[in-house]
Amino acid sequence: MALPPNEVKRLSKEELTQSDIEFFRDRYDKRFIRALRAVEEGRAIKFSFQPSGTTKWVVRGQRREYLIVPQVFCTCRSFYHSVVIDREISMCYHLLAQRIAEIRNQYQSIESTDAERRKMSAELRRTD
Ligand SMILES: [Zn+2]
Repeated sequence: MALPPNEVKRLSKEELTQSDIEFFRDRYDKRFIRALRAVEEGRAIKFSFQPSGTTKWVVRGQRREYLIVPQVFCTCRSFYHSVVIDREISMCYHLLAQRIAEIRNQYQSIESTDAERRKMSAELRRTD
């Protein structure tokens, strides 16, 4: 689920042009637009936990937050149904948003503690 190098290169440009946006929309349909909007609205968040130094990525959706394992996993329903079960798509828009956020260096950084990390994991594991 890694983005191909040409897409990474295109995403690292300072300004995305209309033709860049069309290029990605052809590949990822409306998921790209949703992902880009999430990034622009600061809904991609990287948590760093001390003292372990571990990190976690979260993308805030419309109704709740999703835990992301970059390029691998997302806790949303669309990931489960469309990526894992139906294999219709290679990633949900949250996974795409995380990649865009990291490549464009456009995300919120939050420092936290390992105790908070454990609490957060328990909350995000609930899928109802
Ligand atoms: Zn997702």
